[in-house]
Amino acid sequence: MASIFTKIVNGEIPSYKIAENEKCYAFLDINPLAKGHTLVIPKEEIDYLFDIEDDLYKDLFAFGKKVAKAIETVVTCKRIGIAVLGLEVPHAHVHLIPINTIYDIDFKQPKLKFSEEEFKEIAAEISEAYEKLA
Ligand code: AMP
Repeated sequence: MASIFTKIVNGEIPSYKIAENEKCYAFLDINPLAKGHTLVIPKEEIDYLFDIEDDLYKDLFAFGKKVAKAIETVVTCKRIGIAVLGLEVPHAHVHLIPINTIYDIDFKQPKLKFSEEEFKEIAAEISEAYEKLA
């Protein structure tokens, strides 16, 4: 059965999309630790990040770098933290999380709540920033 993230890539279930390229897709995490918390995934359904072949792995991180730069322009933070867990969804994904302190990337912290409108607005702002990057 297709993973929930494959269904997002295929447009079968909605997401707050940030950006995509031929091989990768980025969208807001619906249980964010911070405003702008984004997931970056390969479109191909591969469970474990470190099973991804080198070319796609490099593409994923180059794409994620550009997405992180876009998040930075929208969300005030010291930097974008990066985390890989993959314990919940068996489709490789990298968390990009705006952080100011180590506690901001603690997955035991309560998640933030945003309305659909707020999620859409955040995604649109980051997406616009992404498009402006070279
Ligand atoms: P993990 O596999 O432990 O890295 O966690 C999976 C992450 O995916 C969690 O932070 C969830 O909030 C997030 N997530 C699960 N389903 C969706 C969805 N439909 N849209 C956006 N984020 C999701």
